[in-house]
Amino acid sequence: MQAENSSKDSGEPPSRRPFQALKKFHSAGRGFWRDVPDADWNDWRWQMKHRITTVEQLQKFLPALTPEELAGAKLANHKLALGVTPYFFNLIDPADENCPIRRQVVPRIEETSTASWEMADPCGEDSHSPVPGLVHRYPDRVLFLVTDRCASYCRYCTRSRLVSNATGYDFHPEFDKQMAYIAAHPEIRDVLLSGGDPLLLSDEKLENLLSRLRAIPHVEFLRIGTRIPIFLPQRVTPELCAMLKQFHPLFVSVHTNHPRELTTEVHDALARLADAGIPLGNQSVLLKHVNDDAEVMKALMQKLLMCRVKPYYLYQCDLIAGSAHLRASVAKGLEIMEKLRGHTTGYAVPQYVIDAPGGGGKVPINPEYVLCRNAGRVLIRNFEGKIFEYPESADGKPCGQPPLKVEESELV
Ligand code: SF4
Repeated sequence: MQAENSSKDSGEPPSRRPFQALKKFHSAGRGFWRDVPDADWNDWRWQMKHRITTVEQLQKFLPALTPEELAGAKLANHKLALGVTPYFFNLIDPADENCPIRRQVVPRIEETSTASWEMADPCGEDSHSPVPGLVHRYPDRVLFLVTDRCASYCRYCTRSRLVSNATGYDFHPEFDKQMAYIAAHPEIRDVLLSGGDPLLLSDEKLENLLSRLRAIPHVEFLRIGTRIPIFLPQRVTPELCAMLKQFHPLFVSVHTNHPRELTTEVHDALARLADAGIPLGNQSVLLKHVNDDAEVMKALMQKLLMCRVKPYYLYQCDLIAGSAHLRASVAKGLEIMEKLRGHTTGYAVPQYVIDAPGGGGKVPINPEYVLCRNAGRVLIRNFEGKIFEYPESADGKPCGQPPLKVEESELV
């Protein structure tokens, strides 16, 4: 796919550009790395080796660092490390302090402010972990954590206690114990590989893990949760796709939050995965000044479909310590869902969820479309606010006679 015009030419902050402009695919370009040979730039190991990880590098590449960002960057390595691939760094608008890409990966001093209701492990994963690196929260599936490393670090990461090892969590998955637990629990039919990012493992290591899981007869379904196609599309090589293809049914869940993350490079990486027969889903986190806007969210969801990715979940931001400056309200999330449902393709509408604080699991959150249920009818409203009646008797059986006339008071 060819790059469109430069993404930095309208003079408007990228998060507020007109809808159709948000939906265009652009290349991330080369930026500061324009002299790097193509062979290096397109090599995922080169990208990993040249990540921005220090305050000095950040200042060099982003000279207009704000005082809040500078202070945050100086403290980041005590909480969640600073790490951004050169490829992804090129998506940052250096002139916009509120650039939606910048807010996701550049630390800020607000990360050190923690409210009493915020947590290091908001989803209660550690308390549902029968062996290190395995979370068994739901009856028929497990989360298999394979690494604590990511290509870039998201400042709102729900697993920031663990990823990047900045807090001394000392994550050491024990693959033999994880495999033994799964093999000994026939109720586990679904295994989700996550981390950290599983696609940072070498092809050989990943193939070994997937082969071992496929050899367990009751494991029906494999999933990989990854942000690699977004942070490091160079990693999605034809060899990786050919290897993954051996393990169907294998789904991949990616994670994008803003339409500008869907570049021509990401489009092509996702196409390689889709062409390998891998069903793709997306998870987004609702983030303040990133995607807490119905038009931005709609552009993201529609653009995902253009990449053959089904929008799966929209998460309310977890109560991870130091994330208040990035959390949008539940009211805002419901408002966005209201502006998606019925207003665009159903496939483009994710399920909005709150991961219940402390380990209650995902709870679906929806705008209210059922106005009331009473003798003889269910009253519903559609996306335009029009009210309709679905006749049904109180016991759920088809009505024997027409329902009574709706009283105005019933609509309250
Ligand atoms: S890629 Fe995922 S695991 Fe890694 S920092 Fe981002 S949200 Fe956390």
